Amino acid sequence: MHEKCGVVGIALDDRDAARPLYYSLYALQHRGQESAGIITHDGFQQHDHVEMGLVGDAFAPDDLASLNGANGIGHVRYPTAGSVDSSCAQPFSVSFKSGSLGLSHNGNLVNAGEIREELAELGHAFTSDGDTEVIAHDLARNLLEADLVRAVKRTMSRIHGSYSLTIMHDETVMGVRDPEGNRPLCIGELKDGYVLASESAAIDTLDGELVRDVRPGELVVLHDDGSGYDTYQLIEQENTAHCFFEHVYFARPDSTIDEKLVYDVRRELGRSLWEESGIESDVVLPVPDSGRAFASGYAEAAQDAGRDIEFAEGLMKNRYVGRTFIMPTQDERERAVRLKLNPIKSTIEGRTVTIIDDSIVRGTTSNQLVELLRDAGAEAVHVRIGAPKILAPCYMGIDMATREELIGAEKGVDEIREEIGADSLSYLSIDAVAGALETSESDLCLGCVTGEYPYEIEGEETDRDVQRPVIGGGEVSADD
Ligand code: SF4
Repeated sequence: MHEKCGVVGIALDDRDAARPLYYSLYALQHRGQESAGIITHDGFQQHDHVEMGLVGDAFAPDDLASLNGANGIGHVRYPTAGSVDSSCAQPFSVSFKSGSLGLSHNGNLVNAGEIREELAELGHAFTSDGDTEVIAHDLARNLLEADLVRAVKRTMSRIHGSYSLTIMHDETVMGVRDPEGNRPLCIGELKDGYVLASESAAIDTLDGELVRDVRPGELVVLHDDGSGYDTYQLIEQENTAHCFFEHVYFARPDSTIDEKLVYDVRRELGRSLWEESGIESDVVLPVPDSGRAFASGYAEAAQDAGRDIEFAEGLMKNRYVGRTFIMPTQDERERAVRLKLNPIKSTIEGRTVTIIDDSIVRGTTSNQLVELLRDAGAEAVHVRIGAPKILAPCYMGIDMATREELIGAEKGVDEIREEIGADSLSYLSIDAVAGALETSESDLCLGCVTGEYPYEIEGEETDRDVQRPVIGGGEVSADD
């Protein structure tokens, strides 16, 4: 499973934004490793540098030096919508009659095709197959007829799906979060300006202070001179649909998202896992990296309950192995797991072991892990998962797997246990997830674990009263 993207936007008083943007992108690298880009504006013109590769490889010192201007936006990307090539790398920029526009997008629209078709009929020429370009063209079109705030509102009323955006119109930097708040976005204050970022860890990197999350449906416009920001609640929705997997897996543990420190939530999920399905064993091992906080919470709850269970790091990760998704065949993917993780035999040999992981997607990794532990001499291997069973794909910008590839789509828990070769297997309940996040299930996106989504997606069920905007008829208009 991979997060799609990380976005950032910065407005400063009197120094170039390129370096702070570059450092923020470093802090968000876990959200996308395929391409990185920055667009700045110096008050007269836009400057951009967008490259394939990791942040450290995408920018040479000269590239940063050429990005003049105190305002800018940035992006790291892992592709889901659109092809894997540089035409989809971001920020996306367009020049149009009333200025220049740059856009960074985290999320995925479910109606981009309809809007693209309509705009193409109206004469818009597209250079990529990504949904970000669709938002950029729609916004550019609306900016010809309306002021900034109204234009953003019009576009928001037409696009359906998940989006956290940082936008630059000439030198004005803005941030927008979709009305369901599916993907995160927060505001931070620096000594000489303001920043918008997918995660608060990016603000920490700049020695800034987290101000708050951008509210679902809110537009935040940073003052060009870095002196403050204005906010506009453009769309209000009764319920949110935060992606719970941000806290479970995607986000950095040191980030605060929707007022909750990710690390604390993961520990709480681990505690709930013990309460719901704790099992006697000699040792609890996290599957690195995100399993670590779950496992420490789980072990702590077990010890609080008087159990003599050791918490140990028994699986060591090789950080220099490429991510398994670049392995084209199933056989190579399987080998990658063994390259990635190595057990510490003395922690495992002759003992009963519980491993804590964040999810089971295809089942391949879990199967390999169980085998690895048995080979290292484990007497029994229990598997506990800090999230509910994934049974359906994600349409909101997470690269997960197709329904056919998901082991949980057709199989029940016991069949999965058998397939991965574990002595026991348990998942966390949806109740426990909502409890750890101190929210109600109706304010979460649970699409991948229930098969019911917070957006109207063709061929899928929804869990709420949502309506896909009607697009078409050759005329772009919406309520102001
Ligand atoms: S379907 Fe799952 S991964 Fe996708 S946004 Fe919803 S909760 Fe997150």
